[in-house]
Amino acid sequence: MIKPRFFIPGPTSVPEAVAFAAARQPLHHRGEEFAAMFLRVQSMLRDVFCTRQPVVTLASSGTGAAEAVMTNLFSPGDRGIYINNGRFAARWGDMMRSFGMNAIEIPVEWGSAVDPARVEEALIRYPDARCVWAVHSETSTGVRADIQSIAAITQQSQALLCVDAVTSLAAEECRTDDWGLDVVISASQKALMSPPGLSFIAMSERARQAAQQARIPHYYFDLIREQERIEEGTTRWTPPVTLIAALESALQMITEEGLEHTWQRHTRMALALRSGLQALRLMPFGSPPSNAVTVAHLPATGRSFRTLLRKKYRVTVASGQDDLKDKVFRISHMGYCDEGDILALLSAIERALRDTGITVTPGSSLYAAQEQLCT
Ligand SMILES: *Cc1c(COP(=O)(O)O)cnc(C)c1O
Repeated sequence: MIKPRFFIPGPTSVPEAVAFAAARQPLHHRGEEFAAMFLRVQSMLRDVFCTRQPVVTLASSGTGAAEAVMTNLFSPGDRGIYINNGRFAARWGDMMRSFGMNAIEIPVEWGSAVDPARVEEALIRYPDARCVWAVHSETSTGVRADIQSIAAITQQSQALLCVDAVTSLAAEECRTDDWGLDVVISASQKALMSPPGLSFIAMSERARQAAQQARIPHYYFDLIREQERIEEGTTRWTPPVTLIAALESALQMITEEGLEHTWQRHTRMALALRSGLQALRLMPFGSPPSNAVTVAHLPATGRSFRTLLRKKYRVTVASGQDDLKDKVFRISHMGYCDEGDILALLSAIERALRDTGITVTPGSSLYAAQEQLCT
């Protein structure tokens, strides 16, 4: 028997308690029991987002939350800036265009993070820009953006900073209120270690104001009306009650660990994994590296290496995307992942490399990872 282990960037593995919570009988979404649960979830969500504002919960994946933000806060013809350093970043530019917005790209080479000075330059050149879209942890390249510095710049302008924190929330330090982030979106199936199907949006007062003038049509996703229902302990439409029950269980685990410890665990796993991969000469791609997803160059055997890992060692990692398809592989270590999982992963990688004829000293990556973990 070999235990299957998943290191793909969503849906991530869920703890057993989370899976059991989702298996319960669905609660009546206008009943007292659901309302009490929804409010407990709301309070824990605010803590994880580091905000005192309400956190809207939608029945959609992360992309649905981004669409809700576009349609609720902006108008056709509005200028919007997007920092394009990966596949998810590019999606937000496409989305702006599809709603008739005037999307301005800040192109950034895949594997790099934007220099915040370029955001400042773009805002000087386009002072009428209404938003800046940034991805905190870019899942296609494994690169983390300096959101705090970008926010210090957007705060001086009229542009709202919209942050895709889908893979960073609960994996990386992300402080919505203290850093002055106007919009933060996330989803259930990444570091929140819950099944897919829920997305979340936190908004600043500036963002709420912008909603008053927005003219892109929308109906199902109405952020202000959703915010109004939160106090009553419910959502406007029938929510996926079983997913909210699962999320409650996951958020309780994060609360028990303590959010800062959760961030630290992700940092430690990322450091240990990178040390281990470097010992195997599988060099990390991109910098500064995300603590949620590690992207590394594939060995010479290329794509078949991933297949071997999956078939023989039952370890599933993700492929590269677009131009990186045959160059890198991607390892998610967000959510329900611990130091022991990283060691099991490195052990499988070492053995798969040896299977393909690459000379590896057994235990070399484990030694390097342990050295990190022992500090
Ligand atoms: C997974 C992910 C998303 C959202 O994708 P969905 O499939 O719509 O949930 C958005 N941004 C990043 C960076 C992601 O990794």
